[in-house]
Amino acid sequence: MYSLVRHLCFPILYLLSVQFTTQVTSCEPVHLVLTANGKKNKVNCFQVILKDTILFPEGGGQPDDRGTINSVEVIKVERKGASAVHYALSEFPVGSEVTVKVDWQRRFDHMQQHTAQHLITGIADSLFGFKTTSWYLGDPIVSIELDTTSVSKEQLDEIERVVNEKIRAAIPVTPHLYPDKEDPKLSQFRARGLPDDHEGPVRVLEIQDIDTTLCCGTHVANLSHLQLCQSLLKEMAQMEAAVYKLQSQKEPVFCHFRKDADGDYMSILVSNILEVNKDAICFVCVGDEKESGLFTLVGPAQIVADLSPKMQYLTRHDCSVSACRIAEVLEAKGAVSGGRYRGKANKMGNRAKAEKLLREQVSSLLNSSGDSNQGS
Ligand SMILES: [Zn+2]
Repeated sequence: MYSLVRHLCFPILYLLSVQFTTQVTSCEPVHLVLTANGKKNKVNCFQVILKDTILFPEGGGQPDDRGTINSVEVIKVERKGASAVHYALSEFPVGSEVTVKVDWQRRFDHMQQHTAQHLITGIADSLFGFKTTSWYLGDPIVSIELDTTSVSKEQLDEIERVVNEKIRAAIPVTPHLYPDKEDPKLSQFRARGLPDDHEGPVRVLEIQDIDTTLCCGTHVANLSHLQLCQSLLKEMAQMEAAVYKLQSQKEPVFCHFRKDADGDYMSILVSNILEVNKDAICFVCVGDEKESGLFTLVGPAQIVADLSPKMQYLTRHDCSVSACRIAEVLEAKGAVSGGRYRGKANKMGNRAKAEKLLREQVSSLLNSSGDSNQGS
């Protein structure tokens, strides 16, 4: 049986939890199927249950820890009832004493991400009544879905400001254990529900005066252990790029619009997309859905070279060239610099039409050059 108390609930345990000595309760050979980058990989390993552990099993939305048992790699940890099952690459004699170490870098990242999620969830709710409907801890971004159809830049700025204020105030993060899962007091706390096979005490995480939630994950002990929350829009831009990265067949043209974002958002998104696919042609728009907004059009050297002679006339009303018509349909003005076209549009409502024109033009350029290098 594993003890959640050891899961770094208290600051004094930060260092203790990096290494821990315990006993092997059971060890059985197993074929484990792991999925990485969409590919299934069968691994012959051993299912190890320890008397106690410091490795967090997957659960409650938080990924599992990595680490070692006697220097042997642990490739997965999962919870089965009250047990944490470790998947290790070697066998250990039942009853033997072993030393467990946690991959601290991964763990601490999860602790920070997860605590930040609680904090942002609590602040978004208290400031604007935006409830968190789901969240996901990823590498390197935590995604939080709020129950609202739109969030303005002012609202995001306010959430960011208050979140940073709370981090600077070094507010304690405290776990409380409730031995009985039927305890009526538990109903007052935010919860995403206990697993059906939950056994043992229920843990409630309190961020003083901000949020109190049922949670079994790992967290920092004080908000000061988080780095400052910098630009939620920046995180969103990185998340959009991460979604593009997951596409197995990357489209040569990346078109994107976000209401109420800004120029920095466009720049971060474009640079992230180009990192994933240097040949991508990016057309990113921000601002009002129908009226005024900003846009940027960026492409690889060859395509930009093909577009450049025409792009120079983008502010003119020359309907014979698709790129010019993009400016026309958006009622846009802007400047070309270093192969990038940035401008201000007055008819964002027409961006679907502009995107269609761009795709047509890029497709004809790619076909005419016979270039099949469209990203992979
Ligand atoms: Zn939590």
